[in-house]
Amino acid sequence: MNDEFVQRAAQLDAEDDLAAYVGEFMPVEQPGFVAYLDGNSLGRPVRAVGPALQRLVTGQWGTDLIRSWTDGDDPWMQWPERVGDELAAACLGAAAGQTVVADSTTVMLYKLARAAVAARPGRDEVVIDTDNFPTDRYVLEGIAAERGLRLRWIETDPAEGLYAEQVAQVVGERTALVVLSQIAYRSGWIADLPAITAVAHDAGALVLADLCHSVGVLPIELDAWGVDLAVGCTYKFIGGGPGAPAFGYLRRELQGDVRQPIQGWMGRADPFTMGPGYVPAAGIRSLVSGTPPILGMVPVRAGVELIGRAGVAAIREKSLALTTLAIEIVDSWPDSADVRVSSPRDPQRRGGHVTISRGDFRDVNAQLWGQGVIPDFRAPDGIRLGLAPLSSTFGDLVRALAVMQEIVVGG
Ligand SMILES: *Cc1c(COP(=O)(O)O)cnc(C)c1O
Repeated sequence: MNDEFVQRAAQLDAEDDLAAYVGEFMPVEQPGFVAYLDGNSLGRPVRAVGPALQRLVTGQWGTDLIRSWTDGDDPWMQWPERVGDELAAACLGAAAGQTVVADSTTVMLYKLARAAVAARPGRDEVVIDTDNFPTDRYVLEGIAAERGLRLRWIETDPAEGLYAEQVAQVVGERTALVVLSQIAYRSGWIADLPAITAVAHDAGALVLADLCHSVGVLPIELDAWGVDLAVGCTYKFIGGGPGAPAFGYLRRELQGDVRQPIQGWMGRADPFTMGPGYVPAAGIRSLVSGTPPILGMVPVRAGVELIGRAGVAAIREKSLALTTLAIEIVDSWPDSADVRVSSPRDPQRRGGHVTISRGDFRDVNAQLWGQGVIPDFRAPDGIRLGLAPLSSTFGDLVRALAVMQEIVVGG
């Protein structure tokens, strides 16, 4: 590896205002481990998570037992809205009372999309792009079949993503809903969510944003942009852990009109009256269906607390410095290495990860894992370098790409 990059990384780490946050994560203690580059897919655990889980198990679950659902100053029953509000304040630019934490992303996406199309009767089209995340495409295919709707597919460039102009060309009086990922899972392209929201609203349609790859790494202003519904993972940049529950956002003005389809007892008004017939709870609570996943929310709270403390604006600044350095290093490899950057070079359009491509990258990814460098592979030929700003150093990046350079260039 070029000494210049080693020195640049040392300088950037020395000047990094967020450097201290690296120490808040569990260290990886494994011989041969070099660096983790998959924080966009499974964030690393915060140190506070172990003790917080321990407290919950021994204190609340083990001692207060069933009373923990209803008693004390932080009753479990209220966690979906409480943790939703914490997440909304730290990461979503959303006022309280519009976000819950519940379900998986896939299930929450179904609930919100299904609710949205039902709230636009007489409109029979849903706009979605061909490179949206698989679960989004499959869920919408299912809803379209269930409701007799037509999907209007926008063909997107896999190295970029959805443009507002493309949405403008297909929306109209038949459009019920526009579904998009704010950051494309492959290329890292940032769609212009405020512009797309405006285009959809001009046509009288609703917008559902999937924020899985943007939450916690990119400034988001759901309220200011007028986004109608949003969903996202908490196990990527938020670090909520494997299978952590999702969040769902429903703009306050739509609450009451937009009714989600999984009418469970926990989203009913006065659930413990166990009364006949479903009556949705007031406000955002009606997005909840069943018993809240309390254990899964403990790490989410720890991750959200850390992000709130660091501030998403500062996180974004470091994220851009990391992805810029990654691209510069890859660009310095000889043309004969034939490695392409498949993410936007324009920093304004580039999210928190950089994808680089070559025909044999599935094998290269396996070799990297064997040598202690952990990115991920996405078909057909991309390796994603996912640099979680709070847990990564510039030095990690340079060391990881030095290992990769050995493999793809031969030193
Ligand atoms: C990771 C991801 C998901 C995952 O959904 P799960 O239900 O948690 O498996 C959905 N959408 C996008 C855009 C993602 O990146």
